[in-house]
Amino acid sequence: MKYDYLIVGAGLFGAVFAYEAKKAGRKCLVIDKRDHIAGNIYCENVEGINVHKYGAHIFHTSNKEVWDYVNQFAEFNHYINSPVAAYKDETYNLPFNMNTFSRLWGIRTPQEAKDIIQKQRAEYGVAEPKNLEEQALSLAGKDVYEKLIKGYTEKQWGRPCTELPAFIIKRLPFRFIYDNNYFNDRYQGIPIGGYTQIVEKMLDGIEVRLKTDYFEFIKENPDIADITLFTGMIDEYYGYQLGALEYRTVRFETEVLDCENYQGNAVVNYTEREVPYTRIIEHKHFEFGKQPKTVISREYSSEWKPGIEPYYPINNEENNSLFAKYRELADKEEKVIFGGRLGNYKYYDMDKVIEAALDLVKEQL
Ligand code: FAD
Ligand code: UDP
Repeated sequence: MKYDYLIVGAGLFGAVFAYEAKKAGRKCLVIDKRDHIAGNIYCENVEGINVHKYGAHIFHTSNKEVWDYVNQFAEFNHYINSPVAAYKDETYNLPFNMNTFSRLWGIRTPQEAKDIIQKQRAEYGVAEPKNLEEQALSLAGKDVYEKLIKGYTEKQWGRPCTELPAFIIKRLPFRFIYDNNYFNDRYQGIPIGGYTQIVEKMLDGIEVRLKTDYFEFIKENPDIADITLFTGMIDEYYGYQLGALEYRTVRFETEVLDCENYQGNAVVNYTEREVPYTRIIEHKHFEFGKQPKTVISREYSSEWKPGIEPYYPINNEENNSLFAKYRELADKEEKVIFGGRLGNYKYYDMDKVIEAALDLVKEQL
């Protein structure tokens, strides 16, 4: 064997693992089918602006160990994500908080907001929310659901809210204070200079081969490494033999505009069904950019098909039980381990990816 580990995927999961394995004296080869490292956190410099090429990425965590870990590789700024929602000609603050409720109903106090939500919730009589619609109605009532959740979610996931798991909406804070911070986490920020440098530093001194697809590569190099860490799609690894898992993908329409400030905020969500995109990202605002031009990306969500990038696992019951069957196959492997958003078929944020990779490191090394 030439290497101790063949790491498939130069994304965050593969990079954390490779960095730690190298530190522990293991010889690693990292391959990726893309022509760049960093997977979905890759940033590309356009007009001096770090463009989040695969969608807006905000680092947030409550895990101090993970925060300290990632800060070894970059300095983070004080960006706090506070998206704005555009619904028809109305504008609201997100996440759902007193600023949102006050704009919606012309009220000022938490008690007034709670009374309205309670009344709307009672109309639906949902006791134990079983799906995203029931969860949203029970948390926020009909107005918030209809104006800010239903259209956006159905565009994002391409399914009615009644067919989506409740946990998706529980990712968002819902609070009765005037606080537009999209996250509840203790630590938050954007790496000054973008995300790619983090992965670059992690992979420093490690052999990386880009534009290299595992399935082709392994045919020619079956004995290249003792153990393979696979961070691609687990169902693809097994040739879809038990059936295909479902994913959502996102298409970005990116434009350079000859103006300094297009929308005044990094993220504006378009929550009505009729607008075809889900959100517009204005990348410079993640780093308080003052460049003379600006770069915006409109995000369009659609069902994944082979040949395009899978972004979001669709963790409904059907897919989760299919994944459990793939997991059984994976558990029998002695020389292959699976990790990351696609390998574990989990809606992981970056901090959870780092946590999971560090756990795997402890187990393996
Ligand atoms: P990936 O980054 O997908 O890396 C996997 C790599 O494996 C890819 O580079 C791929 O090319 C390669 N690969 C796959 N198959 C093969 C193969 N057969 N051969 C060779 N290479 C292969 N998280 C946050 O914390 N905050 C956010 O704000 C946030 N926003 C997000 C927005 C969007 C639109 C998306 C999609 C995700 C977002 N995330 C966010 C999640 C974040 O992107 C992931 O947690 C993280 O990037 C996952 O890292 P990974 O290494 O598991 O996967
Ligand atoms: N969501 C919504 N309206 C919004 C923003 C989010 O209904 O304006 C819902 C939607 O279902 C989405 C979920 O909340 O999938 C989680 O949102 P988040 O911003 O965490 O999604 P991500 O960053 O993963 O795209």
